[in-house]
Amino acid sequence: MAAECIFCKIIDGSIPSKKIFEDNEVIVFNDINPIAKVHFLIVPKLHIESLASCEAQHQALLGKMLLLAPKLAKEQGLSGFRTMINTGREGGQEVFHIHVHVFGGGDKLPRT
Ligand code: AMP
Ligand code: ZN
Repeated sequence: MAAECIFCKIIDGSIPSKKIFEDNEVIVFNDINPIAKVHFLIVPKLHIESLASCEAQHQALLGKMLLLAPKLAKEQGLSGFRTMINTGREGGQEVFHIHVHVFGGGDKLPRT
């Protein structure tokens, strides 16, 4: 838990979210500013800053997050989707608590 982290606050319930899945290790909620019809974020409960801060001990957790993507995408009605992990400011990361974006729905997504 990092005191000033918005996703840690969502995890502890002090900031509301549109939750679509939760277990002891992971929470999944809709992005507040969606870029597609369906857009949710897969977030570990452990505060890890970014993919660049992950270590071997996080391997299983990262795998679990990725495996959740197709399962939840299907539940949300998507037949195809895109995953994205922004890493570091230059990578477009704005919230420094690692998360996997999953989005899709509607028209075919553009190439980039
Ligand atoms: P990134 O640029 O990969 O760090 O993405 C951060 C994402 O978090 C953005 O898509 C934001 O729209 C989303 N976001 C920020 N605050 C919230 C919030 N309170 N609830 C849901 N999503 C949020
Ligand atoms: Zn955090």
